Amino acid sequence: MPEGDTVLRTARRLHAALAGRTLLRSDLRWPTLATADLRGQVVEEVAARGKHLLLRTDAALTLHSHLRMDGSWHVVRTGDRRRVRSAEGVRAVLTTEEWTAVGHRLGMLDLVATADEGSLVGHLGPDLLADDWEAGGADAQPHAGLDAQPDAVPRSQGGAGRALSALQADPAREVGDALLDQRLVAGIGTFWMSEVLFLRGHSPWAPVAAVDLAAVLALARRAMRLALEAREPVQTTTGDTRPGRNRYVHARSGLPCRRCGSTVRVAPIGVGPHARSAFFCPSCQPGPRPTDDGRAQPPLGHDRRGGAAARRRGTSPYA
Ligand SMILES: [Zn+2]
Repeated sequence: MPEGDTVLRTARRLHAALAGRTLLRSDLRWPTLATADLRGQVVEEVAARGKHLLLRTDAALTLHSHLRMDGSWHVVRTGDRRRVRSAEGVRAVLTTEEWTAVGHRLGMLDLVATADEGSLVGHLGPDLLADDWEAGGADAQPHAGLDAQPDAVPRSQGGAGRALSALQADPAREVGDALLDQRLVAGIGTFWMSEVLFLRGHSPWAPVAAVDLAAVLALARRAMRLALEAREPVQTTTGDTRPGRNRYVHARSGLPCRRCGSTVRVAPIGVGPHARSAFFCPSCQPGPRPTDDGRAQPPLGHDRRGGAAARRRGTSPYA
């Protein structure tokens, strides 16, 4: 599932192929964009914000896309029609003289004035992969093992400080759910949430107040930056990029934990329509479990602070 590192890698690839070039053709296969035509516009840049992609043109327009569960953008040589024609689920085709970008199975596609981008991404919290995340400078030891003790994150500066404040504002919230709420910190999806909480030994259902959030965020950023800069576009927390061996717990429910041999489990986390899957090892991640503990439960469909407002805007707090 595309998370912040995958989206930023995609933005860089699209930027390299399209920026500074004129669109000779645009084909947006989306109900609300049937009449939109970007032909003749020059692509100025392609940027990422959390899990959102923003392609800006010299007509002060932004083509916004979100990959959701299994969307992707591919770049092919213009004239190579095979992938464009044969692939099901093509939602967007942007053609320049040299390169053509093809969007498959996109979860969202919008065209807005660049000045109005806030209506689509204004709800996002600090971007975990942004350059200003640590106002103090570059991350130390970017290639240290993921098991190494993460460096402390400055609490008052840059995106890190703001994300910490936002996450700590609801100290009773389950940490796994909070990390997925893009309004608090943008870029983390279920893969990095499950893996980073495993590496730090926290139950995804632990209250935020019981977790060293600075360490969790620092580790998430370090792991995602490694994935971003790696030659192969494979997310790994084990150091192994082979399929199935690149993770400790995510999508490994029913299999033995790589550390202790206990059976890895999965359960929904979060409430209402936005519940996601959290994978965890019951032995390596002590703490609260996903069981009814008798506390008052929010009604079905309730999705916590700001949820109703987010739905009215048509955005999910987890998007
Ligand atoms: Zn274990």
